[in-house]
Amino acid sequence: MPTLSYQVRTYGCQMNVHDSERISGLLADAGYVEAAENEDADIVVFNTCAVRENADNRLYGVLGQLAPKKKDNPNMQIAVGGCLAQKDQHKIVEKAPWVDVVFGTHNMGSLPTLLNRARHNQEAEVELLEALEVFPSTLPTKRDNTYSGWVSISVGCNNTCTFCIVPSLRGKEKDRRPGEVLNELQALVDDGAIEVTLLGQNVNTYGVEFGDKQAFGKLLRSAGEIEGLERVRFTSPHPAAFTDDVIWAMAETENVMPQLHMPLQSGSDKVLKDMRRSYRSKKYLGILERVREAMPDAAITTDIIVGFPGETEEDFEQTMEVVRQARFASAYTFQYSKRPGTPAAEMPDQLPKEVVQERYERLLKLVNTISEEENRLQIGKTVEVLVANGEGRKDNTTMRLSGRARDNRLVHFTVPENAEVPRPGDVVTVEVTDNGPHFLISDSQTYSVRRTTAGDAWDRSQLETCSTGIPGSISLGMPSLPIRG
Ligand code: SF4
Repeated sequence: MPTLSYQVRTYGCQMNVHDSERISGLLADAGYVEAAENEDADIVVFNTCAVRENADNRLYGVLGQLAPKKKDNPNMQIAVGGCLAQKDQHKIVEKAPWVDVVFGTHNMGSLPTLLNRARHNQEAEVELLEALEVFPSTLPTKRDNTYSGWVSISVGCNNTCTFCIVPSLRGKEKDRRPGEVLNELQALVDDGAIEVTLLGQNVNTYGVEFGDKQAFGKLLRSAGEIEGLERVRFTSPHPAAFTDDVIWAMAETENVMPQLHMPLQSGSDKVLKDMRRSYRSKKYLGILERVREAMPDAAITTDIIVGFPGETEEDFEQTMEVVRQARFASAYTFQYSKRPGTPAAEMPDQLPKEVVQERYERLLKLVNTISEEENRLQIGKTVEVLVANGEGRKDNTTMRLSGRARDNRLVHFTVPENAEVPRPGDVVTVEVTDNGPHFLISDSQTYSVRRTTAGDAWDRSQLETCSTGIPGSISLGMPSLPIRG
């Protein structure tokens, strides 16, 4: 059998992006090679998302386009995993019988076995589990870059927000033990990463499973002790569970970045109640106040849904008012759309599309104005930027490079003539000279480069690329590491 190539197509949230790194790692471990860009892969894996309206129609459309390719390539296999697979289960092979494997959110690790079995038996394999068997982070991974990594601390969610399908597809919250998480952080640092984002649907309820309500703050403090780990971020906390010990852990731990992404969803207490989100706008704003008292430079970002069923003009105005008071560095704004299988999809008073659109545009304008004003306040400041691998614009006119400041703002910067050019993963110190609503610019002569272990790891990955022709990759097998705490 020739060496087969694979491609993973990812839809949806950051959790899925992270899961796709695991899927790639599993396939690489099983001897498949990543298909080059623009090359047809032998194994195509869809990591799907169920939260969008019509997500299923779109998936079946794309699967339909692959059917003739499969006829031409006898080695080709198609696998569908992720939330939509968990939701639709056997329906997928009924509607697209040329699909070889369907797997769910709880059994990613079975994918290579299922592919082999489907090839051997010449029939589709559908395997979905109701509960998690192996925590996804214990599977091998293949990261996109060497300087930064994602680490799951929990999966699933014990909340029941009425617009969200996550709890029914990803199950109840499952927490990893702190020692296991810290071992993975250490392994990432040993492989050259200097930045890590802790990932969970609801990071600050972390510990609920093993009975420690302050476990998340403690985890941040322990991450602060890992030598060489320069930047720790996390996403996403839930305002209802946000306690002051986390604020102090953030403020007192040098490598936890001055940044907070905390979903607001609505500024109307009535809508929050209908969304079954148990905090109120006053509590939300109180958290921001205390975060800013402890970390005056913190950049705070959020998610907001416009046009939830029953939202009145007055409710919407309350959201606008919270946005004015909160002064978000940026906000992801979404127009509410029915998500099949959620309670909100069945609620009366679904709003007409035009009303949602008009409110959305008003909110977007306000959010952008505030982001622009907040970014303008950064002009003249000196910021440390972790240089990214091709993030943001590749500006061929100005030749600016890009990266993230400590507060996670995107920075496009010019390398002064004859100055050292940084590698992805190095850290530059620059002065902010201009801004837009979504980025900062530095065209200053104030410029210095700090070469990092992440930059060295980048160099090594490039050498691997040269000798093998395959982009450098890191595979982390965690199970052999001892559990720490
Ligand atoms: S907190 Fe709410 S929105 Fe977030 S994953 Fe849980 S149910 Fe969904």
